[in-house]
Amino acid sequence: MTQLCHCFLAGVIVRSPGRCHRCGAELATIDVEVELHAAALRCSACFALRGWLSHTTLASISGVIRKFGTPESPIIIRRGGVR
Ligand SMILES: [Zn+2]
Repeated sequence: MTQLCHCFLAGVIVRSPGRCHRCGAELATIDVEVELHAAALRCSACFALRGWLSHTTLASISGVIRKFGTPESPIIIRRGGVR
């Protein structure tokens, strides 16, 4: 199975549940330069790892951006889906 490249999502800012454990920032940035996972969430302020994105979540974000373009405000990631 061929994986779609989600490279264009690198640097997209999202708001995910919780805050950075290191600095308390709310926003995170998508990092696609990871192995074994679809993508990582890195703190937008200090670059600490905030968590991993599943292929399903990444595909949802990708679909939204392909259809509507990159939003000016952060994409909101909730447990169980993208908004
Ligand atoms: Zn941080």
